[in-house]
Amino acid sequence: MSVPSALKRLLSCMGSALFPAKCLGCGRLFHHDAAWPAAADARGVDIAAEVALYFCPPCRRRWTAVTSPLCPRCGLVFPSREGEDHLCGRCLKQTGGFTRARAAGIYDGSLRTAVHALKFKGTVSLADPLGTLLFDTFRRFWAVGEIDVVAPVPLHRQRFRQRGFNQAYLLMRKWALPGGTVVIRDLLLRTRATAPQTGLDRRRRRMNIRNAFGVKRPGQSTGKRVLLVDDVLTTGATADACAAALIRDGARRVDVLTLARAL
Ligand SMILES: [Zn+2]
Ligand SMILES: [Zn+2]
Repeated sequence: MSVPSALKRLLSCMGSALFPAKCLGCGRLFHHDAAWPAAADARGVDIAAEVALYFCPPCRRRWTAVTSPLCPRCGLVFPSREGEDHLCGRCLKQTGGFTRARAAGIYDGSLRTAVHALKFKGTVSLADPLGTLLFDTFRRFWAVGEIDVVAPVPLHRQRFRQRGFNQAYLLMRKWALPGGTVVIRDLLLRTRATAPQTGLDRRRRRMNIRNAFGVKRPGQSTGKRVLLVDDVLTTGATADACAAALIRDGARRVDVLTLARAL
């Protein structure tokens, strides 16, 4: 072990002993593992280590990371843990919309609890740690220079007023993005209020959300590679509707990053 990593490990142990962390899943205080997780992927991001910073050991066991084999377009994780990445049935039939969607984890267990607490219970203190996890997911799946504009999926004015915040924006507001990548908070707007997508099947979701988005100021995404940020991707109907609005405005490509991927 090199001196810096030994030191890092020592400091981590000391810090953990002095300052236990609060679990984002169950809210209990816990100590970080003494063993500093070392594995990192090609981009230097270790999601397991990230998760270990924010979720206690029992909650970590109720967490499923997004890993291959998955659909290279929509990021759907296949139940079989063997084989290559391949397009899922839906994406084989899909034309237009976003190019690639990825998430930090599957929308179940601890991650679902954390997203619910942020979105529906207004626990906004979760936004920064979950935002860090999301930023690390971004670095894991996208190379530096691959994205020009990062934008949150917008809420309709009415929903924004009820909730008081847009969770998608809260998750990304503190990101330290590389030069050449800009955040445009109001790139898109929701042109009409829509019924909640929860409980609707795929076809109804598409009908419900169709033409619900527009660009706020035309031309901002023209020729740009855009990354849309949201909390959960379910059927991708919302993401496709946003991507369609951006592509109509001349966006070169639209990708999607969410905290969670619903199955
Ligand atoms: Zn926990
Ligand atoms: Zn797919």
